[in-house]
Amino acid sequence: MKKFSELGVDTLILNAIQEMGYESPTPIQEQTIPVYLETQRDILGLAQTGTGKTAAFGIPLIQLVEPQSRAVQALVICPTRELCLQISKDLYAYSKYKPGMNIVSVYGGSSIEKQISEIKRGAQIVVATPGRLMDLMGRNAVRINEVSYVVLDEADEMLNMGFEEDVEYILSHTPEQKRVCLFSATMPREIRNIANRYMNSPVEISVGKSNSGNANITHQYATVHAKDKYAALKRYIDFNSDSIYAIIFCKTKNETQEISDKLIKDGYNADCLHGDLSQGQREKVMNRFRHHAIKILLATDVAARGIDVTALTHVIHFQLPDEIENYTHRSGRTGRAGKTGVSFTLLNMREGGRLKDIERLSNIKFERIMIPSAQQVRDKKLLAFTDTIINTEIEETIFDKEVERAIEALMMLDHKELVQKILSLELRRFSVDFVNDPDLNASGNDRSSGKEGSSSRGYKGNRVFVSLGKKDGFDIRSFKDWVAELSGISWKNLHVDVSGVYSFVDAAPEHADKIITSLNGGEFNGRPVRAELSGDKPRGGGGGRGGYRGGEDRGGFGGDRGGDRGERSSDRGNSRGFRSGGSSERSSGGKRPYGKREMEGSGSRRRR
Ligand code: AMP
Repeated sequence: MKKFSELGVDTLILNAIQEMGYESPTPIQEQTIPVYLETQRDILGLAQTGTGKTAAFGIPLIQLVEPQSRAVQALVICPTRELCLQISKDLYAYSKYKPGMNIVSVYGGSSIEKQISEIKRGAQIVVATPGRLMDLMGRNAVRINEVSYVVLDEADEMLNMGFEEDVEYILSHTPEQKRVCLFSATMPREIRNIANRYMNSPVEISVGKSNSGNANITHQYATVHAKDKYAALKRYIDFNSDSIYAIIFCKTKNETQEISDKLIKDGYNADCLHGDLSQGQREKVMNRFRHHAIKILLATDVAARGIDVTALTHVIHFQLPDEIENYTHRSGRTGRAGKTGVSFTLLNMREGGRLKDIERLSNIKFERIMIPSAQQVRDKKLLAFTDTIINTEIEETIFDKEVERAIEALMMLDHKELVQKILSLELRRFSVDFVNDPDLNASGNDRSSGKEGSSSRGYKGNRVFVSLGKKDGFDIRSFKDWVAELSGISWKNLHVDVSGVYSFVDAAPEHADKIITSLNGGEFNGRPVRAELSGDKPRGGGGGRGGYRGGEDRGGFGGDRGGDRGERSSDRGNSRGFRSGGSSERSSGGKRPYGKREMEGSGSRRRR
């Protein structure tokens, strides 16, 4: 991989982009920048948002324009106001150490007078949406007859939005002698026509369908009945709610508004972006989303253009887009900058064919997941809540007299009663109705991706509670290994959630039975292990689930006992100090010793 300095980029710009955190060029930059800087050729680039195309044309533009001249030397035309602002912001950042550079952005929905006066002050680079630029040209407020560089960004989107004639009008008013650089995510015939008419045997650069090749994105879908889509969406969000920062794509403005209103009413941190909102409203929503004040943004494809948010955890397709390319546009908004992301499609029974088309044409592999049951959502929240309590540091500095009094009052309660009350409070919103909510997964949709059922989430009766957790030195990986080893079920067929004091294993029903027989009634480092179907009432009298036992019982799980457990483990011949309950037919399994690291983990989070 080359360095920016090897592409012919000036030191002044190198310093600026280094400060922006650009360490090495992306593929589109590596291919475009030298052509732009070292030849006089036009450039036709096939690249999507997220590939770094703005810097691919932006860095050369900053380097090539003359700050001494105040005439418009470069014109960047793009489809939306958001993209316009984003491009000018980036250009401005690249030019940080190049004195005298003026970059002006002009777009609709904002004061034209202000833009006119900005241009009058002299701008070497104008970044514009077509409509507003035409308007300014009509008022003789901008002269583009001396431009040396024209960039058409997201050209296919400009055509989709009906700007073809405007773009041609603008181009026809630029001088014959100029360089044109066109970027597009797709290359339909109309774009080829523009290229033929306005470009001079351009160098063609393609970074391929970048997003389909983006290994950081997992593509998932779930099939539900159309009427259940909203309920399924909520379940999915609930299940992922600890981390979610998502854009949900809808097809129409009305749907976007409607789903957003419903989510807000149901207590979610959501808002929406679509063409019917005023510029002020759009800006407000965007800012709040950028600053994570809103975690879920509903948007139409057009409204989402130009949103530059790098840390999305999920892209959710409430409706699939009409155009297949738009699927990759959408999903490419997650999994950026080295982060992983999920692109999740909610499919109704009739949409399987469309997904298949996307799979085939975009070379994407989809994984079918099941919408989690309400019980699973509840369990996951319970797990997170228990962990939060266990891991909370006690802040004595805030304990004034009033707090002490409250503590005293609560200390009057029996230990177990107190815990029960706290959990009842937390779980109040998960009423019996909620737990008995119907399974939202539609069966019978037999898409051929071959992965159906590969994730067991949501199957009824296949969630196994196990009374061991992080306190026992497990993390997700080691727990999965351990269950696989003892039950003889492949690692791939197990999904686990590991909490501080207990865990859950999701598996197909026949596997769940095997796990229970393998684990239940055994002993782990002298402690009885309970494994049972989640949701079952605890067996036996009074003791509750093993995982909830008091601190005294669990004293033996500190790091100092690690060696002791290790010995017992090897004595017994089962990994990790497990002693069989005698009822199971366990696989012989390997006798893999577990690392000290995991054992030590248990010591650091001792209960207080
Ligand atoms: P774009 O495709 O131009 O919208 O860029 C996508 C994102 O990648 C933006 O947030 C850029 O700031 C970022 N970016 C562009 N080039 C680089 C680079 N060479 N290194 C790191 N980040 C980059």
